Amino acid sequence: MELIPLFSGSSGNSILVRACGKNLLFDLGQSCKRIDEALRSVGTDPDHIDGIFITHLHSDHVSGVDVFVRKHRAPIFATLSTHRYIAKICKKEHDSNLDIVVNENDVIDFDENIKIFTCSTPHDVQGSVCFKVEAEGKACVIMTDLGHVTEQIRGMAEGANGVLIESNYDLDMLKNGPYDYMLKKRVGGPDGHLSNTDCAEMIRHLLENGTHQFILGHLSENNNLPELAFNTVKHYLSQNYYTLDEDYSLWVANRYEPSRGLVL
Ligand SMILES: [Zn+2]
Ligand SMILES: [Zn+2]
Repeated sequence: MELIPLFSGSSGNSILVRACGKNLLFDLGQSCKRIDEALRSVGTDPDHIDGIFITHLHSDHVSGVDVFVRKHRAPIFATLSTHRYIAKICKKEHDSNLDIVVNENDVIDFDENIKIFTCSTPHDVQGSVCFKVEAEGKACVIMTDLGHVTEQIRGMAEGANGVLIESNYDLDMLKNGPYDYMLKKRVGGPDGHLSNTDCAEMIRHLLENGTHQFILGHLSENNNLPELAFNTVKHYLSQNYYTLDEDYSLWVANRYEPSRGLVL
């Protein structure tokens, strides 16, 4: 199984998972044209996407859905409120047979080899979820856009082989940054996003439970820097006696181009 971030950050998200000969896309938060180019650059034909999974309705996760689905005709798995929102923002209707409603805490038997788990995320919109993919005896988790790690999310992610996890903001940069009071409160609140230190703590927990490969993703453009996120996590883990490249691998997903993927 491979997990390849195509785009990651508050400016747009899309992640490719290849397993058992299937190509699965998680979120379409860039234009169809850019996603097509990114897919081709990593050797995947955009006409051969077997399923699209949408975490939630924010534009950095759905802005490419309208054109992509009409052009490539792949089924969209999303919660009901996310589907309703997608229907509203689509300029033209797509085949409604492609809309597959999933529950917030669900197990999808995608085919006989692939299982997809959904788990509700504390985020400031209805029907927001994160995903785990199980295939080939391995599991990977994509967890972004969550204000805090719930027991249920922790339970789902424990023991996964690789995790892409949100490292959205540095607390000092958020405090001193350009956002107004309400937006700072929203981002830093329990239904906002994970900070670099929240992320570090979750990685420590996952390391204790057998996960060794991590990608940091969904960094804020205004309230974070890739080096800062990386160093905050690395420093926190070294204080907990975990050594980079010995005990775990870690890198930051690129914002505007495909990143090195996890090979599980
Ligand atoms: Zn987002
Ligand atoms: Zn969001």
